[in-house]
Amino acid sequence: MVEAFAVASGKGGTGKTTSTLALGMALADSYDVTIVDADTGMANVLFHAGLSDAETTLHDVLAGKAETREAVYERFGMDVVPCGTSLSGFRDADPDRLRDVVAELAADTDVILLDSAATLGSRAAVLPIVLADRIVVVLQPTIPSLSDGLKVQEYATTYGTGVAGLLFNRVTDDEDIDAIAGKAERYFEGETLATVPESDAARAARRAGEPLLAHAPDSQAAAAYRGAAGRLDVQSGPSEAVAERFQRAVVPDEL
Ligand code: ADP
Ligand code: MG
Repeated sequence: MVEAFAVASGKGGTGKTTSTLALGMALADSYDVTIVDADTGMANVLFHAGLSDAETTLHDVLAGKAETREAVYERFGMDVVPCGTSLSGFRDADPDRLRDVVAELAADTDVILLDSAATLGSRAAVLPIVLADRIVVVLQPTIPSLSDGLKVQEYATTYGTGVAGLLFNRVTDDEDIDAIAGKAERYFEGETLATVPESDAARAARRAGEPLLAHAPDSQAAAAYRGAAGRLDVQSGPSEAVAERFQRAVVPDEL
């Protein structure tokens, strides 16, 4: 049984990668979790998960040069599939192969979290949102972030992907987050999963090459992510059905 989530936003730097690993670690208390760095053009899971020297990455798998299992690393209680950062690796990678990779991973895990790209301008960027069962939208409480997030939601729902909820990240005390979240919930299809504060711990975790929940489990930000994971209400479908759906997923031709 598996459910696949894409962690998405319309903007870079909102905290998608931080959130993917934090949610993953929190969910790993109850589920077998697999993290895939599906942001194949601007990968950075490897820097957040102590995998910057990973020998084989998703790029190699997408280029047909390695088997999926060779790019799976057990880290922090999860299976992590990092992606490389070189331009040549990106150029050689065939984004359509991601369908088979995720279908293969689906056979052996409960939750797949796809760390996604910020923009929606290419096949590689859109694929995780099309493939996932539901998206988690990471937002900063600003108008540009919310409006970009709405575009992501529109994209997702057009392709039959649901909205699991909203994660407000990097929230500071001087923002009236309750009012902003209340308004946002009228436009988004999912509820607010958590409000994560702007946090020195998150920055320090990134510098240390560790997920927030490993680096600072007692921080307020970590607690917020655990709350979000509790609210996610994972709805696992049969692995075979999910794998088949992934393989047959129609990827928009215009991209
Ligand atoms: P994205 O994947 O959306 O581009 P990242 O997760 O890589 O974003 O985060 C971008 C930067 O912001 C990183 O340096 C990260 O450490 C920092 N960051 C993320 N969340 C927080 C937070 N809650 N408080 C402070 N810094 C954060
Ligand atoms: Mg990222």
